[in-house]
Amino acid sequence: MKKLVALMALLPLTTGAVLAQATYPGGNPPPKPELTEVWSPVPPKVEPGRMLGQPPSDAIILFNGRDLSGWESVNGGAAQWAVENGEMVDQPKAGHIQTRQAFGDVQLHIEWMIPVLPPERKGQDRGNSGVYLQGLYEVQVLDTYDNPTYVNGEAGAIYKQSAPLVNALKPAPNWQAYDIVYYAPRFYKDGTLAEPARITVLLNGVLVQSNFAIKGPTDYRMLPVYKAHGDGPIMLQAHNNAVRYRNIWVRKL
Ligand code: MG
Repeated sequence: MKKLVALMALLPLTTGAVLAQATYPGGNPPPKPELTEVWSPVPPKVEPGRMLGQPPSDAIILFNGRDLSGWESVNGGAAQWAVENGEMVDQPKAGHIQTRQAFGDVQLHIEWMIPVLPPERKGQDRGNSGVYLQGLYEVQVLDTYDNPTYVNGEAGAIYKQSAPLVNALKPAPNWQAYDIVYYAPRFYKDGTLAEPARITVLLNGVLVQSNFAIKGPTDYRMLPVYKAHGDGPIMLQAHNNAVRYRNIWVRKL
């Protein structure tokens, strides 16, 4: 009896092995698993941040928390935003600011906070700002936690092109985080579009844009039309809303 039980326990194993062998054509022996192993090139080591959202070892820090040395005004000259408490703050009439460095394909992390605004500040007037890839393509920043507006203008939208998949905002004045994977558009030598820009956005760790093909520069009124360009800055939109940013870093892809 003991022998029979032991035999029955083995049965599924042996049957499985026989079936697996039988699936190889021509009765050939199974291929060596080494044939599908790849050993080089070895991915370079990157030390991750100590906590989620902290820069890994190969990140370029875009804001050091002390000054705006890495930034300039879009209108020319020094960036006129304030720096307080390790955060940069949009100032009235200061204008958009952008990184001095230009980028193509990037992984971008950026945190932002909109102060609690009076209830009469509604729709697109409720803490509007924006994170622009290559100075042209806006990921909307807006307090749309409980603030109806056109959905392709909500936080997490590619402005006027793609609504976020979900509303993953926290109520103001919580800090919110964008993690963005962006591939720049490609152009032929004659300037026509070869491949549109692609963007994936996580808002507070939640997927809100999934490999969206950007249709062209985002605009308030005009339909998007691509024009050939090279690398461009990360730009932050000013709308006189005292929106705050911190912990901004990129990795070139
Ligand atoms: Mg905006």
